[in-house]
Amino acid sequence: MHLVMIGGSDAGISAALRARELDPGAEVSVVVADAYPNFSICGIPYYVSGEVTHWRNLAHRTTADLEATGMSLRLDTTARRIDVPDRKLLVTGPGGHEELLAYDKLVIGTGAVPVRPPIGGLEALGPDDGVHLLHSMGDTFAVMRTLEDKTPGTAVIVGAGYIGLEMADALTTRGLHVIQMEQLPEVLPTVDPALGHLVRAQLADRGAEVLTGTTVRRITRTGGEAGQLQVEAAAADGTAVTRQADMVLVVVGVRPDTTLAASAGAALGVRSAIAVDRGMRTNLPDVYAAGDCVVTWHRLLGETYLPLGTTAHKQGRVAGENALGGDREFAGSLGTQVVKIFDQAAARTGLRDHEAAAAGYDPVTVQSEADDHKAYYPGSHRITMRFTGDRGTGQLLGVQLFGHRHAEIAKRVDIAATAIFHAMTVDGLSDLDLSYTPPLGSPWDAIQIGAQAWLRETGRWEAYGGHGSRALLSRPPRSR
Ligand SMILES: Cc1cc2nc3c(=O)[nH]c(=O)nc-3n(C[C@H](O)[C@H](O)[C@H](O)COP(=O)(O)OP(=O)(O)OC[C@H]3O[C@@H](n4cnc5c(N)ncnc54)[C@H](O)[C@@H]3O)c2cc1C
Repeated sequence: MHLVMIGGSDAGISAALRARELDPGAEVSVVVADAYPNFSICGIPYYVSGEVTHWRNLAHRTTADLEATGMSLRLDTTARRIDVPDRKLLVTGPGGHEELLAYDKLVIGTGAVPVRPPIGGLEALGPDDGVHLLHSMGDTFAVMRTLEDKTPGTAVIVGAGYIGLEMADALTTRGLHVIQMEQLPEVLPTVDPALGHLVRAQLADRGAEVLTGTTVRRITRTGGEAGQLQVEAAAADGTAVTRQADMVLVVVGVRPDTTLAASAGAALGVRSAIAVDRGMRTNLPDVYAAGDCVVTWHRLLGETYLPLGTTAHKQGRVAGENALGGDREFAGSLGTQVVKIFDQAAARTGLRDHEAAAAGYDPVTVQSEADDHKAYYPGSHRITMRFTGDRGTGQLLGVQLFGHRHAEIAKRVDIAATAIFHAMTVDGLSDLDLSYTPPLGSPWDAIQIGAQAWLRETGRWEAYGGHGSRALLSRPPRSR
């Protein structure tokens, strides 16, 4: 049995590791376009900031660790064409050498590529001009060259999604003045504007200039050898906005990299990602796909596109197991995510109000605040919470949190994710037996206080009496 994985990041490597652990006799080859298999690209901002001191530290596992599992790595090798009927993969290796690899099963993990927005001048400018996209280790090295060789003083970041914000944090930490431009009305559009507003205040506190409702139209090089860049944008009311910068980072999202799969006949789905079933099977015989290149199964929405490292690891594992003949299913995503912005963190899981309404729920969203631990013990922080639940059934649909990075924002959103994953009601979350000691929590944890605020607002509080947690999923009684 020869398994071939295309892609050496979260999905491809997870698939290869799973296959090798299930069948140490399986021949597993991983084809990787660059020389950086199993690097944590999620950690790039912290290498750029200087907090991670060497790029090699970003490796989840070294090449030697990976090879020790018995997989064979083909680095600097690009997959060019899949011959589905003959089960062969055409690859170009180092030096342009072409080869046909025979496979029994193939896993496509080609991931995503950064979106290039329609900005005038962007096509002609590149890393040598101080203009960067950011996704791969190669992109990271280019950013570092600009930072080290040109010692820029000012950076414009186009986009204020989570990567744009992490990079604002990173570049400010390095001492640059950051100007962040976002075409939507508020930063971090994956959370409600009420929380985005708090994130924006944090950026402003740290000296960043934040221009929302601002669409970048053109980037031009103005300074000859000195390499100054001019960024021209339009505000929402049409007013022209112009800023000078020494470097520009364009981080406006990703799109699935499906050229190879589509040219082999793979069916595409939401956002033109590769269509897969929950076993990560494509429509092509013996071909699986996982990670940022595929449509993702969402537990509340069904099929969607939600590129995240957490999901890519899980889907890769499912693909690796099923390629060996298994019958595993991807359990589904809730889009759970968290981002650190300087000393604060913002997180979300599940659905926001408008997403829930579009999916046919009858959502109510309630905002509240609570302390992360008893306020009499030093160092407590307020957490702002937004709970979304269904008015009719009381089902918990989504939670968004904002607070200090040491206020356990990530773990508290994970409690909510666990509850939503198991289709719990809002009062069910309030009943959970969570831990407490004054320096770390409260008898009712902050996340339970958020749940109770929702119950009060929706007229359920009087009826709520600690009656034991309730899940909407019906479960068979435990057999004796
Ligand atoms: C700066 C940054 C921060 C992030 N932070 C987070 C975070 O905090 N949390 C989170 O959950 N997610 C985060 N993500 C997203 C996460 O990194 C991705 O979801 C994840 O890497 C997807 O993994 P993947 O294997 O599907 O694809 P990718 O990581 O895109 O990897 C694709 C792989 O395929 C290879 N490849 C592509 N085409 C070919 C070909 N034709 N032949 C051979 N090889 C090929 C590439 O070289 C690469 O190895 C972040 C991403 C970035 C860029």
